Amino acid sequence: MSTFWSQVVRELEPYVPGEQPQIDGLIKLNTNESPYPPSPEVLKLMTQDAIERLRLYPDPNSKKLKTTIANYYGVTTEQVFVGNGSDEVLALAFMAFFQQSQPLLFPDISYSFYPVYCKLFGINAQQIPLLDDFTIDFAHYAKPNGGIIFPNPNAPTAIGKPLTDIETLLQKNTQSVVIVDEAYVDFGGETAIGLVNKYPNLLVVQTLSKSRSLAGARVGFAIGNSDLIIGLDRVKNSFNSYPLDRLAEAATIAAFEDDSYFQTCRAKIITTRDWTAKELAALGFSVLPSQANFVFAKPANNNAVEITQKLREHKILVRHFNAPRINEFLRITIGTDAQMQQLISVLKTL
Ligand SMILES: *Cc1c(COP(=O)(O)O)cnc(C)c1O
Repeated sequence: MSTFWSQVVRELEPYVPGEQPQIDGLIKLNTNESPYPPSPEVLKLMTQDAIERLRLYPDPNSKKLKTTIANYYGVTTEQVFVGNGSDEVLALAFMAFFQQSQPLLFPDISYSFYPVYCKLFGINAQQIPLLDDFTIDFAHYAKPNGGIIFPNPNAPTAIGKPLTDIETLLQKNTQSVVIVDEAYVDFGGETAIGLVNKYPNLLVVQTLSKSRSLAGARVGFAIGNSDLIIGLDRVKNSFNSYPLDRLAEAATIAAFEDDSYFQTCRAKIITTRDWTAKELAALGFSVLPSQANFVFAKPANNNAVEITQKLREHKILVRHFNAPRINEFLRITIGTDAQMQQLISVLKTL
């Protein structure tokens, strides 16, 4: 601790991302990236001309990208906000909407960045326990609040909620902003984007990091009522006018335009996931039903830490969370078929 740190900095509890080690032949199943490269259309953009244009600032409003996203999801460009990864979009949204006198509500087992933003922005939060089967019960959110946020499908459980349940929540909760964090929705969930015209307090956040293989480009977006988007823009334009660089914006447009590549990759990951879940179950793991590009699985012998360590010795990285209720689980990202076969065959020897 430095004496130069402000009081706020002293009290922060920063998020710790999964590691990105440089190990030859590593099978990386710890941060839910795609095992497949970005669309081949992305490569074609990396031209001499594009590089030369890096001397210029990008469009501060990312108008072209917003138009692409708006057309893809059938909304208007005024209903789209883009940022440097959905983590940034979420951070700006926490500041724009959740600094309220009533507490923000989110699940006790959820994306661990949420409590970090609460500390950073001085937001009072109340964590609502998941049920024993690790599902969200929206009945527990029927109380005065300054906002509600949850991932759908949830992370790290991988369990999704049906859209009808989300609509019921929105019908009851009209006085505060509800954010649905859809980082994993493309792997079998139901998006709430179709509800934004009906519920002015709904903000849906998505990312290009998982289903569109662009984690390294750092692009996320939000879709909601234009008044919410203006609020986000006010925060963004008080912080960083140019969150998206030129190459990231162009890569994102290309990724959306190559829809067949996207459909192929996500279908592949879903198939590999279902195979992996079955194999893990056969090895005695309890595997939560996944609608994401990862599985959350508990080994039969309650030796999650030991297995994580042993897998690492075999150059396979998975994620373990040392947190109440989930410290007996492993979160395993779905890789290629060959990677998952390797995982299963190593697990058989342990
Ligand atoms: C991965 C993830 C994000 C962040 O994704 P970015 O790479 O910052 O776009 C947000 N929410 C959840 C639940 C995630 O798992």
